[in-house]
Amino acid sequence: THFGYKRVSEQEKTQKVYKVFENVASSYDTMNDAMSLGIHRLWKDKLIRVLNPPVGTKLLDVAGGTGDIAFRFLNHVKNKSSRGKQRTEPVDSHVTVCDINKAMLDVGQQRAARYNHASGMSWVEGNAEELPIATASVDAYTIAFGIRNVTRIQKALSEAYRVLAPGGRFLCLEFSEVKNELLASAYEKYSFDVIPVMGQIIAGDWKSYQYLVESIRQFPNQEEFVDMIEDAGFSHVTYENLSFGIAAIHSGFKL
Ligand code: SAM
Repeated sequence: THFGYKRVSEQEKTQKVYKVFENVASSYDTMNDAMSLGIHRLWKDKLIRVLNPPVGTKLLDVAGGTGDIAFRFLNHVKNKSSRGKQRTEPVDSHVTVCDINKAMLDVGQQRAARYNHASGMSWVEGNAEELPIATASVDAYTIAFGIRNVTRIQKALSEAYRVLAPGGRFLCLEFSEVKNELLASAYEKYSFDVIPVMGQIIAGDWKSYQYLVESIRQFPNQEEFVDMIEDAGFSHVTYENLSFGIAAIHSGFKL
């Protein structure tokens, strides 16, 4: 039946994504720097600046992978607490990194140990579509370069809404639609011709990076994604383009 077919292909997508990130986990951080020429770091810094989390924030970072957002969050609240009240610990601030992929989380935990960041963090294996997180239990939900990998995006957005406490904020950093035509064609060429080659050379894996490029192309554009976030129940939904729309940050509130 139609439904039977759909269920199989959804399962296939989830499995395919799992394999991709299992394959790339150990070279993931290097590849990010190479592919984006380091710019992903600036976009992630920007996400934390937009969130501007006060000391004491409970953050859930979904599809958190190797912890890039989580480490930035902890640094931010640590700096704040030492500036404000001469505290050295990020009092009560906490980040939970949730990711479906054990291999990515393992790399993240090794980094946490290296950076001395063990306190204030927890690492949870889980699917964005069915978060193993209590209802109304977090102040903020972030997802960076994760949502386009999720099979049922609308379901993940509803889950984001569920776990946020009233007043909580949803922030999503994701590749988006380049609005400038000249840049768009250069970017297209770069994505399809250069990224899989880099994937082959650096990670020994052409196919995974071809998947990543295709998933960027298939993801809804800025305005379509606003509608989806509103459909999940969020209020005051806005977005901001980064680097001419190569990426965008979408924001919404649970009121
Ligand atoms: N947020 C990290 C960053 O910005 O560096 C990692 C982004 S990485 C491109 C995408 C991550 O999404 C992978 O770690 C992958 O395992 C995770 N992922 C894919 N599907 C997921 C799902 N359904 N639920 C939770 N995580 C998922």
